[in-house]
Amino acid sequence: MYDIEKIYQAKSIPDAIDALLADPKAIIISGGSDVLIKIREGKLAGCSLVSIHGIKELEGIYLEQDGTIVIKPGTSFSHVTYNEIIQKYIPILGNAVDQVGGPQIRNIGTIGGNICNGVTSADSASTLFALNAVVEITGKAGKRTLPIADFYKSAGKVNLEHGELVTAIYISKDNYEGFGGHYIKYAQRNAMDIATLGCAVNVKLSSDKTTIEDMRLAFGVAGPVPMRCHETEKLVKGQKITPELFEQVGKTAITEVNPRTSWRASKEFRLQLVEELSKRALKQAIVFAGGAIYE
Ligand SMILES: Cc1cc2nc3c(=O)[nH]c(=O)nc-3n(C[C@H](O)[C@H](O)[C@H](O)COP(=O)(O)OP(=O)(O)OC[C@H]3O[C@@H](n4cnc5c(N)ncnc54)[C@H](O)[C@@H]3O)c2cc1C
Repeated sequence: MYDIEKIYQAKSIPDAIDALLADPKAIIISGGSDVLIKIREGKLAGCSLVSIHGIKELEGIYLEQDGTIVIKPGTSFSHVTYNEIIQKYIPILGNAVDQVGGPQIRNIGTIGGNICNGVTSADSASTLFALNAVVEITGKAGKRTLPIADFYKSAGKVNLEHGELVTAIYISKDNYEGFGGHYIKYAQRNAMDIATLGCAVNVKLSSDKTTIEDMRLAFGVAGPVPMRCHETEKLVKGQKITPELFEQVGKTAITEVNPRTSWRASKEFRLQLVEELSKRALKQAIVFAGGAIYE
């Protein structure tokens, strides 16, 4: 039983904004895989909804002339995974969202809903952090853009005012060209479980593939919001790929994160995961970037 006061199907982005502004309590629903659960659990019982599901301008993925990848927020996880642009340029993201829930959730849940719910375990989030994604937000006054790290405010809270919606996610060419990336989701079981820890690495190697030119290391569930490990990133830049480097990465990463104990896992176990997964994800990312690992 879904206790909903009313639902309005918006026809366009401006129509959705007007409908939200007309009702201070109205909530956006896209795929509904979070919102409907909350309504059924009673957390949003009696709410008014503005549906953005099916608005064509909010769906799809394309390349801009300068090589920027534009992902519209209403694109389902399945469409992200199987999209040719994603597969060609940023397979790490397609792989990350292919680990969300089960097939039904991946068919209905959207990448926009995944970041707008503000949850640290969102499988798309750490990868988008490691890709330096930029979020476009549209409201009555027009558009504004924010780096994804500034979009997340605190656990469950994102930088969105009432009457605003996310209308695009941008990944510029300099943030993916020449990079190899890998995402590891550690969960208690392989299907239908949210991450105990998620780790995304994007790495760019020197032309002889022996040295790390650039590295982005991001985690989900290592703190109240998804996060990057900037000190670890600085440490590895310009370094040769050696077994010692991986040890350094794992040891430094645990000094930057702030996981908590929950019913899913203890803080100590999550720290162990941070150390281990950062090494494993970096190794695989190096291989995807054309490098080799000698141990
Ligand atoms: C059984 C099950 C398993 C799941 N497993 C996983 C998992 O393994 N990994 C994972 O990351 N997630 C998981 N989820 C969570 C969920 O599928 C995702 O968070 C999904 O991406 C939400 O997208 P949606 O379109 O369904 O969002 P909705 O439920 O429609 O909305 C979610 C939130 O985002 C807001 N919103 C949506 N779109 C916009 C927009 N364009 N602009 C502004 N606000 C917007 C809504 O107002 C709401 O607050 C699971 C959910 C279920 C039910």
